[in-house]
Amino acid sequence: MSTGEQRAITFYIHTFGCQMNQADSGIITTILRNEGYLSAASEEDAGIILLNTCAVRENAVDRIENYLQHLQGMKKRNKGLLVGVTGCIPQYRREEMFTVSPAIDFIAGPDTYRTLPALVEQAQRGARLAALDFNPAEMYEGIDPGRQGSTSAFVPVMRGCDNMCAFCVVPFTRGRERSHAFSSVIGEIRGLALSGCREITLLGQNVNSYLDPEEGRDFADLLAAAGHEAPDTRIRFTTSHPKDINERLVSTIAAHGNICNHIHLPVQSGSNAMLGLMNRGHSIEEYREKIGMIRSIIPGVAISTDIIAGFCRETEEDHTSTLRLLSDVRFDSAFMFFYSTRPGTLAARTLADDVPEALKKRRLQEIIDLQNDISAGIYRAEIGTVVEVLAESESRRSSSQLMGRTGTNRVVVFDREGHEPGDLVRVRITGATSATLTGEADLA
Ligand code: SF4
Repeated sequence: MSTGEQRAITFYIHTFGCQMNQADSGIITTILRNEGYLSAASEEDAGIILLNTCAVRENAVDRIENYLQHLQGMKKRNKGLLVGVTGCIPQYRREEMFTVSPAIDFIAGPDTYRTLPALVEQAQRGARLAALDFNPAEMYEGIDPGRQGSTSAFVPVMRGCDNMCAFCVVPFTRGRERSHAFSSVIGEIRGLALSGCREITLLGQNVNSYLDPEEGRDFADLLAAAGHEAPDTRIRFTTSHPKDINERLVSTIAAHGNICNHIHLPVQSGSNAMLGLMNRGHSIEEYREKIGMIRSIIPGVAISTDIIAGFCRETEEDHTSTLRLLSDVRFDSAFMFFYSTRPGTLAARTLADDVPEALKKRRLQEIIDLQNDISAGIYRAEIGTVVEVLAESESRRSSSQLMGRTGTNRVVVFDREGHEPGDLVRVRITGATSATLTGEADLA
């Protein structure tokens, strides 16, 4: 086979954004492999480069545009190189994507990945094509994302979201909520556990709304069955919506030793005025009550959150309410962003993005500084304790250390003492920053 032919059938995927996108990259990989395409070890070796994009996080769109410039340079050197953009960004920017960069040969939204082999074929003949139809029936059933044998795996349990948070593109990029059949999710979990998987994360934009299409079982039922079917595997889940998390679900977590004591519960703002404009469907008092309920049922639980600084019409008082919430709740960690409009969202259509950028950035910095202090305090309190860590990989700094996570999702870097990724290790904590614990394997 010539180098040109080799390039034409190999592909490389850059995944941006959330865990759902990482899971989707596994689906895309399987779809392309089933048609005879081969995974390339790096983008330099690939004949097709895919950017699987996310429209949620700050700067995601800018990052993609910068990356496309780099790929345009590569295309000048590699005649025949194809570039596709998949995921949420083409879904909401639609054919306008082609004007963003001449490097793009084809685009595909989250419901059309099965068409990728056909898109590639037509792009090879010079066509520039878009596949952006919504397909509520598309659950990618029957496509095995090839995770057998890995230490940890994502298992999507639902797709889409019916909430209409004003700032969010997900309802417009991933469509209506629909859930995988209970029996197929549990079958997948059983198979992964049998293949040696040590940690499974159940994924959904709004997992608490899971509803089995066959027998109507809910997310608490699913979580209980997952905990039971894979007793030696850690079970995680994300993302929860505050208005839907309930006592039955939290009690299910408490009842299973292998369901991790970590809940990601995005709040976005500490102000009722902002929560109303954001269309979040709950008040800050209700949110605080849920936190109290969770902590009373699972002592020692870690709770993380998402915060948006500078949403439309946010006043200094609203901002102070967010700072107060952070101080009161003391989240383990937070994803923190300043607001920027996403075209097509409810906010883009109905609210002016009227907080000046300098003010948004100042408020965001205050939020970050406060949260970092809180996280550092929580992490420092772990010094001297022994925690159970699932080792994920070698640490970036040294091959004599491993990086892993506690059940509470805290990152731990520790001296490996003969351990390998995939091992469950008791680690004595000896140091802490606001984002990482350090320690040594407890040989006692
Ligand atoms: S719950 Fe709100 S923020 Fe989360 S995916 Fe749905 S619309 Fe977006």
